[in-house]
Amino acid sequence: MKEDKPTLLLVDDERLHINVLNNMLKDSYEIKVALNGRQAIDRAISFPQPDLILLDVQMPELDGFEVLSLLQKDTRTREIPVIFVTAMDSEGDETKGFKLGAVDYITKPYSPAIVNARIKIHLKLLRQKCELQEMHQQVLALSFTDELTGIANRRRFNEFLEQEWTRSSRVESSLGLLMIDIDYFKLYNDHYGHNGGDKCLKKIAETLIIQVIRSPDLLARYGGEEFVCVLPGAELDELHKIGQSILDAIRNLAIPHEKSDIADIVTLSIGGTVIKPNLNKGDSEDLIKMADALLYESKQKGRNRMTIRDV
Ligand code: GH3
Ligand code: MG
Ligand code: MG
Repeated sequence: MKEDKPTLLLVDDERLHINVLNNMLKDSYEIKVALNGRQAIDRAISFPQPDLILLDVQMPELDGFEVLSLLQKDTRTREIPVIFVTAMDSEGDETKGFKLGAVDYITKPYSPAIVNARIKIHLKLLRQKCELQEMHQQVLALSFTDELTGIANRRRFNEFLEQEWTRSSRVESSLGLLMIDIDYFKLYNDHYGHNGGDKCLKKIAETLIIQVIRSPDLLARYGGEEFVCVLPGAELDELHKIGQSILDAIRNLAIPHEKSDIADIVTLSIGGTVIKPNLNKGDSEDLIKMADALLYESKQKGRNRMTIRDV
């Protein structure tokens, strides 16, 4: 909504009524007009979309009630508040209007002060609703983000994996998973301190996220010094490529790790596999277990490597 001049759509089949409203409102609002129901719908969709609609009830062809229900069925217009403006003042019509989802009802003849006040109130409510929605989005985003690294968290991973498990089994597509674990990170923490450990985790996450370039993939912090990468539709050769690029990138990052048993820099171990999900057989937990077992194999074989294969 434009803060300084919100846009109103005035709908009435009588030009005289439109002119009266237009004169009353044009200084404070951008005005769009429509002289029948069809026009009203077109103009509610076209840019700039109105922030609020003043809708006459009695019109030939499509009347105001019909226009409102069409607006409510269209995702592009369903959130626009509608105030009915009408000469009729039967309670039945008012009730019908509210039932259909009108936010208010003004009966003719109206005083300019009342019309103005009602419009202001509904625009204010609309603004508050938008702010709440924005806050809700922000809270939602935060609840899916790992605080330390800024990448997706375990909750987001669980949800994404579940969703991709279902989707992949429907379209009979593969689903890949990489489990990534920093080697000797306890020793790193002991030597460089918890803050040093945190900084290292952040750098690793920043580097990993750059390697995960396919758009459907999700990189998340699984917990502690473990990361996961979900790769919808990927085959083993793609997992190999991404796994290798991750190992290379972390080697190039060359974060000193004096206490590591296997190198003088921070290294990773990776386990990964691909599965064809089937909703009737097993669940996403199986894929995690398989990748985890392969990660364990990498650790057993000496760390700083990947084990990626069919299970
Ligand atoms: P391995 O090579 O077998 O994986 O050994 P490791 O020491 O990396 O594994 P282990 O699971 O024994 O230790 C993980 C350590 O990671 C324990 C903890 O000190 C550290 N850690 C976990 N989460 C955080 C964190 O958020 N910040 C910091 N600084 N350290 C963390
Ligand atoms: Mg570790
Ligand atoms: Mg670990």
